[in-house]
Amino acid sequence: MGGYRHTTYNRALEISTDICIGCSHCMKVCPTEALRVFGGKAGIHADWCIDCGECYRVCPTRAIGVMDDDFKEIFNYRHRVLLVPSVFFAQFDRTVPRQKIFDIIGELGFTEVCTVEQSVDTLVDEINSYIEDADKPVISSFCPAIVRLIQVRFPSLVDNIMKLLPPIEITAQFYKKRYEREGMDCSEFGIFYLTPCIGKIAAVKSPVGGYKSPITGVINMDFFFNKVYLAYRQKIEITKSIIVNDQLSSKGVLYPTTGGESINISGRSLAVDGMKNSIDFLEALENEEIKNLDFLEIRACDESCAGGILSHRNRFLTAESLREFASKVPKEHNLILDYKKYCSAVVHMDRIEPRSMVKYDRDIEVALKKMESARRLRELFPGIDCGACGAPSCEALAEDVVKGQADINSCIFLRTVYEKRGEISLDEAVKIMESIWGKDRFSKNSD
Ligand code: SF4
Ligand code: SF4
Repeated sequence: MGGYRHTTYNRALEISTDICIGCSHCMKVCPTEALRVFGGKAGIHADWCIDCGECYRVCPTRAIGVMDDDFKEIFNYRHRVLLVPSVFFAQFDRTVPRQKIFDIIGELGFTEVCTVEQSVDTLVDEINSYIEDADKPVISSFCPAIVRLIQVRFPSLVDNIMKLLPPIEITAQFYKKRYEREGMDCSEFGIFYLTPCIGKIAAVKSPVGGYKSPITGVINMDFFFNKVYLAYRQKIEITKSIIVNDQLSSKGVLYPTTGGESINISGRSLAVDGMKNSIDFLEALENEEIKNLDFLEIRACDESCAGGILSHRNRFLTAESLREFASKVPKEHNLILDYKKYCSAVVHMDRIEPRSMVKYDRDIEVALKKMESARRLRELFPGIDCGACGAPSCEALAEDVVKGQADINSCIFLRTVYEKRGEISLDEAVKIMESIWGKDRFSKNSD
């Protein structure tokens, strides 16, 4: 009973049971009810997790860790390419020159650097032709946490997700193809992505839409910012050279900010950010309360990528820096024609499938029976979603009991009734509480 381990795709977070104190803060904010507390520790149901990072933000002990790649892995490749999002430049004070940042990136070990959003101008044209024939509203595929949220919680909207790759994948494809054209040995180059969010770690390792990413590994932006900033402060000597592909247009720089995508779309488009706002909006869309919308930009973090959990700086200052940065770059860059030539064949992805939460059973008859048992159980529970059972809601506990993953007596209200009736002893009741919240907590409280 309790504890979730299995997974069919690569998740980007893990919980350290040594550090977790079972406070359940994470469980209360998870938008897909993927967390439970058992034995005094939190556990993630991997197939239900959408890598939004909401749990990471609220954990008071930093027990939730990011499963990024070890920086040393870059040295397994002779040619080491870093794809840098414009949000990274916005982490620095405006007095730090961009060339200095590139020089330090080279000194730290990369041989080539490319700005991620150089593919945006091509992508925007592709989106505008895509939405002409697509069912409306077209929902952006930019934010991987939102794509997974729709797969898990709003399966009826999956067909509305735009089947075009996000800028990071198009840029990676562009450089991979360029290296192949230049006759480079593929095993000699590693393409690494500097990520401001954990959703993109999972998206690179387990992409949706029948697609295989050319990206070799993902570097945590918070970790890497500290490394670069320290080198800058220490004024390290630059001894190595680096190839810099820093083409960016104002459209590209603004793309990861809220409204940066929808502003380029012909027709009626809206921009929504933040997990709660996103869920509210998707619910309204599912209930057909929103009409005549052509395009929906929707991102899990407040202030979009500026508010990514691996972004070091305050999100409002980051967004302000991006706007300032955008005002200083040209409207178009000189790689646009190359992108148009080589990328239109690679921007599309296949059908995106709903990700069933397989709540009860794959056999439909068994599932229906279990569903009915869960419905009856829910009526027994008080419906106040107190969380004392180690599950986020009475509904979640009913489902767990039917699946054999929790005891009906985990519900503190039912247990009290059964105790009064003499149907369960005090010792048994204490054992159940210990199984959820851990023995230590109770021995500590009884001292
Ligand atoms: S990352 Fe998001 S979906 Fe996954 S366990 Fe944490 S809060 Fe839940
Ligand atoms: S927030 Fe979750 S992971 Fe962090 S200490 Fe509390 S129960 Fe453990």
